[in-house]
Amino acid sequence: MLRTLFLNPPSYQGFDGGAGARYQARREIRSYWYPTWLAQPAALVPGSKLVDAPPAGLAQADVVPLARDHDLAILYTSSPTFGGDIKVAEAMKAENPDLTVGFAGPTVAVEPERSLLASAALDFVAREEFDFTIAEVAEGRPLAAVDGLSYRDCGTVVHNPDREILEDMDRLPFVTPVYKRDLRIEDYYIGYLLHPYVSLYTGRGCRSRCTFCLWPQTVGGHRYRTRSVASVLEEAALARELFPQMRELFFDDDTFTDDRQRAEEVARGLGRLAMTWSCNAKANVPRETLEVMRDNGLRLLLVGYESGNQQILINIKKGLRVERAKRFAADCRDLGITVHGTFIIGLPGETKETIQETIQFAREVNPHTIQVSVAAPYPGTELYRQATENGWLPADGESGASLVGQDGTQLAALSYPGLGHTEILESADAFYKRFYFRASKIAEMSAEMFRQPDMAARRLREGREFLQYLGRPGTRRPA
Ligand code: SF4
Repeated sequence: MLRTLFLNPPSYQGFDGGAGARYQARREIRSYWYPTWLAQPAALVPGSKLVDAPPAGLAQADVVPLARDHDLAILYTSSPTFGGDIKVAEAMKAENPDLTVGFAGPTVAVEPERSLLASAALDFVAREEFDFTIAEVAEGRPLAAVDGLSYRDCGTVVHNPDREILEDMDRLPFVTPVYKRDLRIEDYYIGYLLHPYVSLYTGRGCRSRCTFCLWPQTVGGHRYRTRSVASVLEEAALARELFPQMRELFFDDDTFTDDRQRAEEVARGLGRLAMTWSCNAKANVPRETLEVMRDNGLRLLLVGYESGNQQILINIKKGLRVERAKRFAADCRDLGITVHGTFIIGLPGETKETIQETIQFAREVNPHTIQVSVAAPYPGTELYRQATENGWLPADGESGASLVGQDGTQLAALSYPGLGHTEILESADAFYKRFYFRASKIAEMSAEMFRQPDMAARRLREGREFLQYLGRPGTRRPA
């Protein structure tokens, strides 16, 4: 077995783009998802080490010396960080010329050849779901014998056959022992989750086909493949045992509610364990299912509303009607389920009027907290294809770096006739202000801080970070 390092490389300060983040950017407030996609293969490789540099505050100088103690380094990369990740790989290779370096992540899955040609420091890239691909490389198999791999052979790029999609999800070992071994759960913050939280996947893939959404279009696919209920409950119980300080368990499946019957079964099991939990959901969950989940410890749903304009929802193939989303929001409110709603500005069909419509919609459905992103055309998505075909990208739009600014915060990569980059980006800021700077919302947040004194310090810190974000200089792209 090769001595194997799994690394989320250092990049922009505070960058939340690791092996699990769906929007790869430095967020408005300190925010980190767990590097679950790296922890999963790490769990398959005995004696491996997982280093998640951004949450741990590690710089390149801290991680490069690790090259000396390893035979194999797997670096997770994303479109915005690819150039910087290559520099880390080159520095590690210089430190230990015998080190084999592989990259994994959606970016290299869709552009394996271009990725490999970027630097001689890169020996291979793992395409598709890369858990067992990496495990076989770590066993010492020749690269030519590992499905799902593209590698360099005497200056030529060779693409091995695709790896079969994983059907039996219970073959994946638990990730929580890897978290326990290599991570500090207190380093992981998400503004709307209780701290400290732990997150894991109970399945992969999403049945919906949203044109902007990265993981289902590049790695996970459109069938929701799930672990057995027994396996999920066993890991939930283990998480609590390993992390008695954990206050909430989050299921990071693309859409945990895609299989409602199973979601209810898992919920009932979590109820027996008396756990507080939360998950991703689409805004079409029936009230009966919401009730079962609420009665069994569900605290919060993370919901992608995206837009309040029906035509935009159709354009992005969201498979959701605005009226259905409103009914869902009302049900959650009635049942006391907290909602964190996410919205996207600058999707195809966006105009100044639809932006106002979405802001009005957000105020009406009134999630407890929101996140406003600008449309990000990641390579491999239908949105990216549409953007290149229709000329919505700027001249430098071929590069993922144009998705974020110099400090790693989001940029408006797309523009349309009548709606420029600056307008889109400024609308996102205006969205936040019009949503949060309302008397009713301020009263709601103040009441929360009053009820939960430990929340007060956190919300004040987040509020400071948020105001700094709104006042940030130099992230605007010329119109
Ligand atoms: S429902 Fe959510 S996870 Fe599924 S494709 Fe759409 S945005 Fe992605």
